[in-house]
Amino acid sequence: MTEDDIPEERHDAGFDVVKARRAAKNPNRPGERCRASAGRFVPVVDRRRCEGKAECVAVCPHGVFEVGRIDETEYRAMPALVRFKLWAHGKKTAFTPKANACRACGLCVVACPEKAITLREAPTRG
Ligand code: SF4
Ligand code: SF4
Repeated sequence: MTEDDIPEERHDAGFDVVKARRAAKNPNRPGERCRASAGRFVPVVDRRRCEGKAECVAVCPHGVFEVGRIDETEYRAMPALVRFKLWAHGKKTAFTPKANACRACGLCVVACPEKAITLREAPTRG
C-alpha cells in the first residue's frame, strides 16, 4: 500500500485519511504494506504503554482497532506506575476486535505516539 492507495472515503468511525497518508510516508513503517493476507499478522498492543489516544483507530484502513476502558481485573494486575498512567487517561486503551482483518500495512505501528503496537505473525491454524 502506498499513500495513494489509502481510500479517500471510509465509513468506519474514527478513520482519518490525512493521518493515514502521513503514516504511509514514514520510512520506518514495518509490515508487508497490505500484501499480507488478512489475519496472517496481528497487531499486539502493549497496555503498559498505550494511552488510548486512538491514532491507531485513525490510521488503520481495515477498522481493526477500537478504544475503550481496560478490564478492571487487568487494570488491577498492572504495576502501580502503569495504573496511575492508565487512570490519568481515563483507563482508556486500544483493543483489536477485528485483528483478523489486519493486512500488515504497518501504519498503526508508526502512527502510535507511545510505540505501543507491534505486528506479530498469527499462529497457524491446524
Ligand atoms: S495503541 Fe497507540 S495509537 Fe492506539 S490508542 Fe494506544 S497509544 Fe494510541
Ligand atoms: S498493520 Fe494491521 S492493524 Fe495496523 S493499520 Fe495496518 S491493517 Fe490496521
